[in-house]
Amino acid sequence: MPVSYVLSIDQGTTSCRAIVFSASGEVVGIGQKEFTQHFPHSGWVEHDANEILHKQIDCIKEAIKNAGIEAKEIACVGLTNQRETTVVWDKSTGEPISRAIVWQCRRTAEIVEELVAITGKSGKNIGESIREKTGLIPDAYFSGTKIRWILDNISGARKLAQQNKLAFGTIDSWLIYKFTEEARHVSEASNASRTMLFDINKLHWDDELLVAMNVPKSMMPEIVDSDSCFGHTREDLVGFRAPLIAVLGDQQAALFGQACFEPGMFKCTYGTGSFLLGNIGSKKTIVNGILTTVAWKLKNLPAVYALEGASFMGGATIQWLRDELGIIKTSEESEQLAQSLEDNDGVYLIPAHVGLGSPWWNPHVRGAILGLSRECDKRHLARSGLEAIAYQIKDIAYEMELAGVKMSELRADGGAARNNWLMQFQADVLDIPVRRNDQIEATAWGVAALAGLTSGIIKKDELIKKQLDKTFLPEKDRKAEYKNWSRAVRSTITFANH
Ligand code: ADP
Repeated sequence: MPVSYVLSIDQGTTSCRAIVFSASGEVVGIGQKEFTQHFPHSGWVEHDANEILHKQIDCIKEAIKNAGIEAKEIACVGLTNQRETTVVWDKSTGEPISRAIVWQCRRTAEIVEELVAITGKSGKNIGESIREKTGLIPDAYFSGTKIRWILDNISGARKLAQQNKLAFGTIDSWLIYKFTEEARHVSEASNASRTMLFDINKLHWDDELLVAMNVPKSMMPEIVDSDSCFGHTREDLVGFRAPLIAVLGDQQAALFGQACFEPGMFKCTYGTGSFLLGNIGSKKTIVNGILTTVAWKLKNLPAVYALEGASFMGGATIQWLRDELGIIKTSEESEQLAQSLEDNDGVYLIPAHVGLGSPWWNPHVRGAILGLSRECDKRHLARSGLEAIAYQIKDIAYEMELAGVKMSELRADGGAARNNWLMQFQADVLDIPVRRNDQIEATAWGVAALAGLTSGIIKKDELIKKQLDKTFLPEKDRKAEYKNWSRAVRSTITFANH
C-alpha cells in the first residue's frame, strides 16, 4: 500500500479542520467542525481545550473517510493553529485547569498597562524590552499576560505552578502533547514568538520577561525546530501512527504555503481579519507599528523572520454589512454592488468596530462612515467596506515603506480574496501586482508542504511551481482616494480621543 498522503491539522479560532493532501498537493479529503465560543463577560473570549481536541480528532477521521483512503496511508502530519490562545494544564493529570483564554480576549488589558511601565532587571522599562526582545508591541492579544491571569485567578494555580506541576502551551503545544504517543511538552518558534516571553534574537524564553509577568520558567514548553519530529500520532486516537513533523502558527503557515521563501516576498490572508506578512530573511527589522515575528526555524538553518501587520476587520466588515445591517444577503454580493459605482462618491467606511490594529494599535477608536449624501445607498456601503479592507493593508505597507521595506508584489489568499473587485482595487491602491492563489488552502497547505518537504514526499521545486494563480495588475491611480482615507482615519481617531 503506498503511504503517500500528508495530513494537515488546521486548528482555527472558530473551527477545527483537517485536510488530506496528495503528494502532488491536491486536496483529497476535508473534515471540518465548529466548536463553542464562550463569552463569559464583555470582551472575554474562551475555548474549551478538550472540546478542541475531540473535535479535531473527529475532523481527522472525517477527512480520511472523505478522502476514501485508509488511515495507514497517511505518511506524515503537519499542524497549524490559531496563535496566542493560552492553555494551562496539570502535568500529572494532563487536564486543563481552566478554559483556554483566546487571543481575542481583552481581559488582561490593564495588566499590560501596568506591565509596560515597570522597570526590568536590565534597567529598561518592560515595554521597551518587549519590543526589542520579542518584536511585539505590548498588548493583551499575546499569551504572556493571559498565563499570569490564570495563575492569579484560578484557585490553587499559583501554588501548583511553584511546585512545577503546571504546563503552559499555545494550541500547538496542547495538541502535540495530547496527540502524540510521546506526550512531549514542546512548541516551536513561530508560535513561541507570539507569547511576549520569547526572545526572537536568541530563540529562547526570556528570564527578565518571565519575571516581569510572574510566570515560572518550569511551565514553558521546550522549543524545537518547526520541522522536527514532534512525536508520532496515537493510533488509539486517530487510527494511525505517523510522525508529526511540521508545526507553524496559522499566518506563518500561510506565508510558507504561498511559497514566500525569499526575503521581500509578501502574502496577505483576507479572512475575518487581514494579515499581511513579509519574509525579511534572517536579519531582523523593526518597523513602527508593525510586529516582527519568527516565520519559521528549520533544522540546521538560521531563523527566518517576518514583518506582520494585522487589521482586525477584514472580511468581517462585509460580514457586518450582511449580518448586522442586512444590506446584502451574501458576502459575494458586495462585489457586484461595488462594481456598479463609477467611484466611491467620497464615502469612506472606517471599520474600527473593535479598535484599529496595525499600524495604529488603538483599542479605543470605534467605526465610522464619513462623507454620506442623499444619493448614497447600499452600493456605497459595500464599496466603502471593500475599499477599507484594501486601504488598511496600504496603511501597513506605507509604514513598511517608510522603513525601507518595499513590496514588489503581493500574494493573496483567504475567503475575501475571492472577491475580484477587491483584488483589483488592492492592486491599484498598492500600485503593485496582486497574485491570488486560486488552487489551495494556503494555511493548511503550508504545514502540509513543510511536512511533505521534511519527509521527502514533496520537492521544493514542485512547491514553487505549484503556485497557480490569477494576477491583478495595477490599473488606476488611487493616490487621491488614499489621501482621503488617511484623513478619514485621522478624524475618526481624533473623535475617539476626545
Ligand atoms: P476565517 O478563516 O477568518 O474564518 P475565511 O478565510 O473563511 O475566514 O473568510 C471568511 C471571511 O471572508 C468572512 O468575513 C466573509 O465575510 C469574507 N468573504 C467571503 N467571501 C467574500 C467575498 N466574495 N467578498 C468579500 N468578502 C468575502
